[in-house]
Amino acid sequence: MKTYHKNSERFVTKVFQDVFDKYDLMNDLMSLGIHRVWKRNFIHWLNPQKNTTLVDVASGTGDIAKLFLSEIDYKGQVYCVDENKGMLDLNKKKLKGNTNVKWFCNNAEKLPFENNHFDYYTISFGIRNVGNLSNALKEAYRVLKPGGRFLCLEFSKVKNEILNKLYQTYSKSLPRIGKIVVGKSEPYEYLIESIEKFHSQEEFFKQIEKQNFTKISYRNLSGGIVAIHSAWKV
Ligand code: SAM
Repeated sequence: MKTYHKNSERFVTKVFQDVFDKYDLMNDLMSLGIHRVWKRNFIHWLNPQKNTTLVDVASGTGDIAKLFLSEIDYKGQVYCVDENKGMLDLNKKKLKGNTNVKWFCNNAEKLPFENNHFDYYTISFGIRNVGNLSNALKEAYRVLKPGGRFLCLEFSKVKNEILNKLYQTYSKSLPRIGKIVVGKSEPYEYLIESIEKFHSQEEFFKQIEKQNFTKISYRNLSGGIVAIHSAWKV
């Protein structure tokens, strides 16, 4: 059995290297397809305008980039960033034929872009995985234009006790589903652990506030199983 060394710097990288080829299938299975609804909600709240530029960080297989392009009628630019080459290759496949997409194999903590470049910065189910949250948020702030918007979709905390119990019970089954579908349970044990360890809605709000963003707000989806945080650079 493969073991993950949790203290190793590349731990998260290894997790995604192990699951990338079944990533979309597992997302649909684990969320019962609901991740698609969350992502559509996310893009609707972003409400992107035509002829704008988005950087989608931890872009994975490109769901957010695809929704963004369709929302702006393919009149604009998307830069997809992910540290995992396998994920980016699937992303390229999904967005094949789009001349307005560029791909970058880079870390969210050190983006290869100049200051004040993008109208929007999105990160969906990625911020929980970065090594240093404040470095990633600093980079988000740096690359956004003044007037640009940060939007983050991430697992969060469920306040309702009954829903939380049901959710916790369901979560425990994910490593078993992973074992059957991908042949590995460890990445899904990591998933549960990383969700548990990540900030609450209010704590994450404060982390964003520390990086000079303004007009910060958040919305819960599915009772807080996930939350969308929005913030602006002025
Ligand atoms: N955004 C996609 C979505 O919502 O389906 C993918 C989310 S997936 C759970 C997380 C992605 O973050 C993976 O593709 C992983 O390679 C990437 N990732 C993790 N840490 C990263 C980092 N520090 N910099 C860039 N990408 C990272």
